Amino acid sequence: MQFRYQLVDKSRQKTLPPGVPSFGALRTNHMFVVNYEKGAWDDPRIVPYEPFASMPGAVCLHYGQTIFEGAKGFRHADGELYLFRVDKNFARMNHSANIICLPEIPVELQREGLLRLADLERDWCPTEPESSLYIRPFMFGCSDTIGVKPSDSCVFCIILSPSGPYYRGGFSEPLRLLVSTQFHRAVSGGTGSSKCGGNYAASLRAAAYAESKGASQVLYLDAGNRYIEEVGTMNHYHVLKDGTFVIPEFNDSILRSITSESVLELATMGRIKARSERIEVKDFIAKLKAGEIIEAGGFGTAAVVSPVGSYLLESGEVITVGNGQIGEHSRALYKMYTDMQNGWAPAPEGWLTKVPQYQPA
Ligand SMILES: *Cc1c(COP(=O)(O)O)cnc(C)c1O
Repeated sequence: MQFRYQLVDKSRQKTLPPGVPSFGALRTNHMFVVNYEKGAWDDPRIVPYEPFASMPGAVCLHYGQTIFEGAKGFRHADGELYLFRVDKNFARMNHSANIICLPEIPVELQREGLLRLADLERDWCPTEPESSLYIRPFMFGCSDTIGVKPSDSCVFCIILSPSGPYYRGGFSEPLRLLVSTQFHRAVSGGTGSSKCGGNYAASLRAAAYAESKGASQVLYLDAGNRYIEEVGTMNHYHVLKDGTFVIPEFNDSILRSITSESVLELATMGRIKARSERIEVKDFIAKLKAGEIIEAGGFGTAAVVSPVGSYLLESGEVITVGNGQIGEHSRALYKMYTDMQNGWAPAPEGWLTKVPQYQPA
């Protein structure tokens, strides 16, 4: 497909400010956009980062037909920009699309759009410690129809955000999670395995409640309040005494985290110990209290590893994980993972995509 470029005037282009950027705050000069009309993807283009025009009746504004992805790029010592596991994001974008009846977008089109945008904006990748070029692809239905039905037309877009660490103060403050039996993020047969906007709108109330109780986020259980599911922006893990990472088994109410999948793949390569299984919350709490579970936390692209220091139960009881501090296994995994992302340690074949140089438009 022919890609069109409409660039910001050189004299008006902004550049990466010095220092550590806060997570998700900055934007680069351009974005990638492609439209879906009459059954086909059309007019892929790199254009200035600017407001979209939308009809007030657009489906996404009323019924939430929107999905998104999150990935990261890193500048390596060779000066080149590398994207981490983005093929996984392209595939998951289409998984999410299927769940809320948006059209699939060919992986090749996603890849070329992202690589062309990343090439153009390569100087925006921060090199400060724990920083990255955060990549946000998303898609939404934009047909102007009041009826509840899948949108005939939609937009796929990628924006970039040069970002520092997700948590200010970086990898230093273990989280407290509220184990919620009153809020649920997803049910079997629902949309939980898709990164669709509504899942996150639905999580805001529970997150606000958790915060009012002094917890930073919610650990969701299944709708029967029996099994551990995930954290709503991250998957969950715990670590056994022998150093094994245990992740709740994926099902259709858990978002299949690329970070979790990578951890499980590293285990099959013999680089760490990890497995997934169904975890009953009552066993989990008993093992925490007995000291059989020595560390816990969350996995996700934004923070990579987010150690948990304690759990707050609805009864008000607080259960500390180990000594409440960040454990050695969580720390070591974070280092192994970010070393691979940054090119300081070899990553498995195919995990990093070097951004090529395209001919100037
Ligand atoms: C994005 C997300 C995660 C983390 O997935 P990664 O691919 O590791 O970034 C976990 N849970 C939910 C609900 C998410 O939206």
